[in-house]
Amino acid sequence: MPDAPSIPPATGAPARAEIGVIGGSGLYALLDDVTEVTVQTPYGPPSDSVFLGEVAGRSVAFLPRHGRGHTLPPHRINYRANLWALHSLGVRQVLGPCAVGGLRTEYGPGTLLVPDQFVDRTLGRAQTFYDGLPLPDGSLPEVVHVSMADPYCPDGRRAALAAARANAWEPVDGGTLVVIEGPRFSTRAESRWFTANGWSVVGMTGHPEAVLARELGLCYTSLALVTDLDAGVETGEGVTHAEVLEVFARNVDRLRTVLFKAVADLPAARDCVCSHALDGLETGLAGVPEPPAAG
Ligand SMILES: [Zn+2]
Repeated sequence: MPDAPSIPPATGAPARAEIGVIGGSGLYALLDDVTEVTVQTPYGPPSDSVFLGEVAGRSVAFLPRHGRGHTLPPHRINYRANLWALHSLGVRQVLGPCAVGGLRTEYGPGTLLVPDQFVDRTLGRAQTFYDGLPLPDGSLPEVVHVSMADPYCPDGRRAALAAARANAWEPVDGGTLVVIEGPRFSTRAESRWFTANGWSVVGMTGHPEAVLARELGLCYTSLALVTDLDAGVETGEGVTHAEVLEVFARNVDRLRTVLFKAVADLPAARDCVCSHALDGLETGLAGVPEPPAAG
């Protein structure tokens, strides 16, 4: 457990944002005119600085999931620090674009899928804020079990789907994202097994990101960009990282456009399942900082 105390982000003008975007492989910057802030958390540093900017009058915090130079593999990302950092800046709605492999031949490269379920196949990642261990500030999280029956925000999913359609990019509405530990890709047998289970796409970062968002009462929406057919459904040599990045690069502009539109259309007031995830629960997370007052 890192020993950095929880401290407010940055100095000077209050740094805050209402909407967070966690950019995956190939998406290391979102906005041109940004304020870079360093945020510390009780869990150590997030993947990178947080970049604050504005889209359609909405304040946005962008965080490159793998670091801006893609230095962090999926299993070493400090997911708790990332979600905590966004929350501490005032973020209450998170969009999580990610690169995935298609588990069905019809989900080829360039497919945009907005999942409604995930399956966790990761190993040993820190995946909860409620592990019963005291935080450096002395607060002690209670043992809390949040509902994950429907892991993604219904309002966020609606906004993402509509944003894709508005940009003539017909998305796949729903499906199951299998999250593997990585950094290696699946074997053909694993991949065929995922497909046989009826799952849709496979990635490495969707868990525990969605869980941790829910544990803080944040809305979380996954936008899965298919960069390749996974090993079980393709017939070539298998996936390479270079291929993933190449397909992502080809689609990153329209993904950014979709993200901007989704940000613009997210409801300003929340009344979704995520916003009520902690209702009536005593979390003990006194260390969850309230966002600084707008000023
Ligand atoms: Zn929500």
